[in-house]
Amino acid sequence: NTDIRESMYLVSEFAAKYFQDVLLNSEEGKAIGLSYFKERGFTNETIKKFNLGYSPETWDAFTKEALGKGYKLEFLESTGLTIPREDRPFDRFKGRVMFPIQSMSGRVLGFGGRILTNDKKAAKYLNSPESDIYHKSKVLYGIYHAKQSIAKQNNCYLVEGYTDVIQFNQAGIENVVASSGTALTPDQIRLINRLTRNITVLFDGDAAGLRASIRGIDLILEEGMNVRVCSFPDGEDPDSFARKNSHDDLVAYLESNSKDFIQFKASILMGEAKNDPIKKAELIRDMVGSISKIPDRIQREVYIQECARIMDISEQVLTSTLAQLIQKDI
Ligand code: ATP
Ligand code: MN
Ligand code: MN
Ligand code: MN
Repeated sequence: NTDIRESMYLVSEFAAKYFQDVLLNSEEGKAIGLSYFKERGFTNETIKKFNLGYSPETWDAFTKEALGKGYKLEFLESTGLTIPREDRPFDRFKGRVMFPIQSMSGRVLGFGGRILTNDKKAAKYLNSPESDIYHKSKVLYGIYHAKQSIAKQNNCYLVEGYTDVIQFNQAGIENVVASSGTALTPDQIRLINRLTRNITVLFDGDAAGLRASIRGIDLILEEGMNVRVCSFPDGEDPDSFARKNSHDDLVAYLESNSKDFIQFKASILMGEAKNDPIKKAELIRDMVGSISKIPDRIQREVYIQECARIMDISEQVLTSTLAQLIQKDI
């Protein structure tokens, strides 16, 4: 079984090399893939650091090349790089720019592939399917390049997408990973927990990003970690924001806009709730709900105090509400 997995790693590593070679050295790759990455502001250095590539439009260009080099169809199919078809198996990612997904130790586990058109019908990103080497819920895009910096900075920025990770790295911020393609999972949070207890959630400035960050907060709290949240202006994501700003301005923005989860929830939900007692009550209940996820009693107490102060409500009533919630959990 380790033999099978080793073969799958080798196929994946060959594929990453092949896609990069096509990107940098073929006419089609340069005209379509490379110019796309350049348009997004990626430098050659960045392209090499993240092993970016391009998969040709041709039906089975990659599959043929790999078979010709002696890689077995079995492993091309089990990694999902090749889609089985009786007559002529074909390339899953044809015509897409490629983002190899690496493990903590740098092995290639799978790929994300992005279409280049703005065709609303086709899925923008396509990911490798689950396999013996690629477990979506257990990997974080960017972790290989981020691990040292996360430990050193004692903080991890958590973003939504591949390009957010890459653009931050290019801006000189390396302690960043993405949950790419899935909602954040406890396993992903535990991976970060091996390196730091502090996560700053940076989600897109849109409704989906807001929902994702709110869901993420409780999961992170449940793991006993500290969570801060920094939101971006409407319509911006970390990638687009990093591109428009200098390194220093980006760092300054992150520092001055990161809030703890109580402040964050208060700031986004308070606007509408301010003059409405029913909404305000709901918001407070929601905050206490998040506080109840924290395993440590002292930390819970500290957040209760903060919540009482910000929402202008007595600590006693919050403490008894909290006690009810924790009781229910047991
Ligand atoms: P881009 O800047 O290239 O348009 P993005 O990273 O900003 O992409 P979002 O739409 O914000 O893309 O989505 C965030 C992440 O969610 C993506 O990076 C990708 O990992 C994943 N994702 C987005 N769309 C899809 C899809 N159709 N199928 C699978 N995963 C997707
Ligand atoms: Mn988004
Ligand atoms: Mn985005
Ligand atoms: Mn984007």
